Amino acid sequence: ALRKLVAGNWKMNGSLEALAELDAIAAAAREQAGVDVAVCPPFTLIAPAAQRQPGLAIGAQDCHGNAKGAHTGCVSAAMLAEAGAKLAIVGHSERRADQHETDAEVQAKAVAAIGAGLTAIVCVGETEAERDAGRAVAVVEGQLDGSIPRDGKAATLVVAYEPVWAIGTGRTPSTADVAEMHAAIRTKLGALLGGEGPGVRILYGGSVKPDNARELLAVADVDGALVGGASLTAAQFVPIIEGAV
Ligand code: 13P
Repeated sequence: ALRKLVAGNWKMNGSLEALAELDAIAAAAREQAGVDVAVCPPFTLIAPAAQRQPGLAIGAQDCHGNAKGAHTGCVSAAMLAEAGAKLAIVGHSERRADQHETDAEVQAKAVAAIGAGLTAIVCVGETEAERDAGRAVAVVEGQLDGSIPRDGKAATLVVAYEPVWAIGTGRTPSTADVAEMHAAIRTKLGALLGGEGPGVRILYGGSVKPDNARELLAVADVDGALVGGASLTAAQFVPIIEGAV
């Protein structure tokens, strides 16, 4: 089994005061030496988070696909690295929906992140309508085709499978459905990346909570979790980290 990664996505939540949560999260990360832990706060909190807990991996929730230029309001991967980020989530379904990000843009962002020395967490996942239509695996395979950098390496590329209908809803797929999807993603990564495919970690995301984390993280080819709401407090995030051991 691959070394697990438990990453928190704070989305548009948090504050300087909330960074106090990182103290207990960093302590848990040190204690669980067999698990990688990361927290991705909003852009403005990356530098203070990295300064507060230099031993904890801090990540961004997005980056631009270009290195610099006339892109008002955007942030480049090199800027994130300079601020102390080690990772960048790209292609989250909320950005694919709200900012109309395409697979090609997500791929460019992943390439930019990796080029700046960050690990890219590329998000994929089907909507409820797509699952109901029996198209979940085909949709995710198509997203991987379009958004995975072709020269991706296991050391700096992570995939997060997040069914859109499971995000923030308290609903999760059955472990059998998670296993089926992660196996399909593993196969696809082999086709896209050759020998690097087996080493790319595949995270599950969508309503991961302390009470279901252990079960989800035990599914074959689930190499970690991408956690939203339950990553905002150490009280909920630490038990999830412990569930990955
Ligand atoms: P929740 O854990 O709040 O469902 O969010 C999942 C997610 O979108 C993480 O990126």
